[in-house]
Amino acid sequence: MKFGGTSVGSAERIRALSDLVKQRLPERPVVVVSALSGVTDMLIRGAHLALDRDPAADQVVKDVEAKHQAVLAELFPTGKNRLVEHVHGIVAELRAFYSGVHNLGELTPRSLDAISGMGERLSCEIVAGTMVARGVDAQAVDGRSVIMTDESFGRAIPLPEETGAQVRDVLLPLVERGVVPVVGGFIGATRRRVSTTLGRGGSDWSAALIGSHLPADEIQIWTDVDGIMTVDPRLVKDARVLPEVSFAEAAELAYFGAKVLHPATIKPAVEKGIPVRILNSFNPTAPGTVVRRPPDEEASAGEPRAVAFKKGITVILISQPRMLMAHGFVARVFDVFNRHRAPVDLIATSEVSISLTVDSPASVPAVREDLATLGEVQVLPQMAIVSLVGRGFVRRSGLAARIFQALRDVNVVMISFGASDVNLSFVVSEADAERAVRSLHAEFFEGAHA
Ligand code: ADP
Ligand code: ASP
Ligand code: MG
Repeated sequence: MKFGGTSVGSAERIRALSDLVKQRLPERPVVVVSALSGVTDMLIRGAHLALDRDPAADQVVKDVEAKHQAVLAELFPTGKNRLVEHVHGIVAELRAFYSGVHNLGELTPRSLDAISGMGERLSCEIVAGTMVARGVDAQAVDGRSVIMTDESFGRAIPLPEETGAQVRDVLLPLVERGVVPVVGGFIGATRRRVSTTLGRGGSDWSAALIGSHLPADEIQIWTDVDGIMTVDPRLVKDARVLPEVSFAEAAELAYFGAKVLHPATIKPAVEKGIPVRILNSFNPTAPGTVVRRPPDEEASAGEPRAVAFKKGITVILISQPRMLMAHGFVARVFDVFNRHRAPVDLIATSEVSISLTVDSPASVPAVREDLATLGEVQVLPQMAIVSLVGRGFVRRSGLAARIFQALRDVNVVMISFGASDVNLSFVVSEADAERAVRSLHAEFFEGAHA
């Protein structure tokens, strides 16, 4: 059972989640928690302020402490709780880290991981303490003693064997003794015990990894919406819950921006065939969405299922009239992206040009410089990818006509169709993204045609 930021966002929410877990004790749950909502953002913002030697970094330390102490005061109104000291200790560590960043004038990805992961170290203790106070035999577990990763700080990759061994050594004995482990998600450690993080939204991944190394029946992702919906409900109020989605659809949706699930979550679950269920901690009786292999993929061929979008995309266009179709040109273009470790999302080619999208603007200047030796380069920043995700698209006629009709007023910069038969993606400017998403959703999921 993994609980996201809003599900641990206040004393009231922490009590509610403790009760949800308590009701499920016979099922022997393992709990994974995110940081209290907003805390990871605060920690990262404070680190950048410290780097800029901005005195506001001190205020962030105070705010982090105040936020957690306020929750504790509400949870444990009487008597002094050991958690007060615990929070104080971690906050003192945070202060020391910020002053290190300030003094050295340097914020490495490695330091940032030590800092950004503190929210989960705080939340797992507070949640476990609350459960104990409510009669559940629970124990906080630092995620760094469970998830073992490589050294790619900021986006560390879990090491399956080592993580599996830790899950079996640290968590399984607790479960077998009837104790509920409460693990801080998002964080891990290298073999040399250096703190890492799995990237933003990574608690889902922690939960899926842990679930896949246990004999788990189900991985439950408890969040603040009723499940995976046809579109982000914050954008379109007519969004509908999808009772069931396939692993492939969930992966595409997550990858193309549906924040409800971290993209990497699906993989360990698929490998073990463990269903993932998305549930609403604010509405726990709703059935949610189950992600699993669909029983009959053929039957629903051609059905659009959801719309996702992702902003902050850069389009890079390389034209070279003489060279493109010449032997080796595409390989040289990709080699540039490979050298700069810039993952490419969408690709479109013509006789004389090739367009690609990347979602990490940091690598763009260097990529651009290297590409300039291969041809003429154009860069379009602030673009968005809008994706229609579904099943068996290539076996369905008439879909393209409906899509272009829906997008008739939007300037579409790039299209990718047919690469996978579960995804159809467009690039539009960021300013047009919401409008494009709403139009597509209205066309396929609202009203008479839906
Ligand atoms: P948590 O903190 O629980 O991990 P997140 O904020 O990471 O929660 O993810 C939940 C949010 O994902 C929802 O509040 C919703 O706004 C957003 N979201 C985006 N796309 C979708 C979608 N297709 N279905 C459901 N929620 C979505
Ligand atoms: N707290 C982390 C984040 O905000 C991880 C998570 O919530 O999944 O990115
Ligand atoms: Mg999340």
